[in-house]
Amino acid sequence: MVTCRAAYKGFADIVRLLLFLDANGKHQDKEGFIPLHWAAIRGNLTACRILVQAGKKDDLMMTDNSGLTPQQHASDRNHQQVTNFLGNARKLHYEGGIFGKLSKLRLAAALVCVIFMLLLTYINSVIMASNFPTLTDVSAFFAWIGVILATTGLILFYRKDPGYIKSNRNDSKDTRDDEPLLKLELRDPAILAGKWTRLCAACKIIQPLEAEHCDTCERCVEQLDHHCPLISNCIAKKNKWDFLGFLVLEVFAMMITGIVSLTRIVRDPWAPSSIGGWLLHVGYQHVGVVLFLVSDIFLLICVSIFTYVQISQYNVDDFQDKYIWKASTIARVSSVWSCRQYA
Ligand SMILES: [Zn+2]
Ligand SMILES: [Zn+2]
Repeated sequence: MVTCRAAYKGFADIVRLLLFLDANGKHQDKEGFIPLHWAAIRGNLTACRILVQAGKKDDLMMTDNSGLTPQQHASDRNHQQVTNFLGNARKLHYEGGIFGKLSKLRLAAALVCVIFMLLLTYINSVIMASNFPTLTDVSAFFAWIGVILATTGLILFYRKDPGYIKSNRNDSKDTRDDEPLLKLELRDPAILAGKWTRLCAACKIIQPLEAEHCDTCERCVEQLDHHCPLISNCIAKKNKWDFLGFLVLEVFAMMITGIVSLTRIVRDPWAPSSIGGWLLHVGYQHVGVVLFLVSDIFLLICVSIFTYVQISQYNVDDFQDKYIWKASTIARVSSVWSCRQYA
């Protein structure tokens, strides 16, 4: 009941500590309320977020003695932010089983399908189309570079570990007061000093600095930037520069494939010389190329803007730390190796 009281009062850090210690006690009070009801009644978004992260998905649909869920209580009292948050959490968490997993993957799967369909259209209608002259070796090399860049970007980046932190979950029911891990964590100076904001009640860990909990992945992640639904993965410490690399590769791929497609229809020797005749010829003979070009240009504009926004948010020092250091280490190792060869 202490958790209910803390949730009602909006003491987010105390809620966090109690959940971290599994000191939730009896789940429902005499009115049938769980702590999430109390946090929703007071419209405390932070407490709601902590309780949803650490709680069970059934909490979102739990009804009190009068048959109301936490979301309905928040809605009745016009706590719009809390209502929206609980509604989104219900959509995300309550779609359990295979359908829930599919819903989390659908955008990533759609992205892969769109890219492969565009690539197939490009290969079929631009590179290998029988109604165009055969490409020269140099032009074919340039045309295939676009395909290679697009697939490489996707394969290299897809589903890479963004920097997940190992959680201490699944042992909560068996946790005893004298368990070494818990005692060690409770001796942490930050905890003793009352800095409980670093506790993740869901993962049962003390978060390192700059780590955050991702609600979609249900894990804590180092230097979380955001969760990208397009690739169904977090963008964080370990993959944020790879994500940028993926975007840049896709931009170059779209530029190259766009230039090749445009050159193919403009230089088509079988097209009439008049503009009207040329438009009719392209419309009838090269529908696939036109569709590909429209999609390609649209995506190029969207992804370029997104890439620019990503670059402007990134800290260049991180890039230097990660890649310049690696490059200098490789150079040093190779120079030592070459010296040994001559010795
Ligand atoms: Zn966490
Ligand atoms: Zn995530």
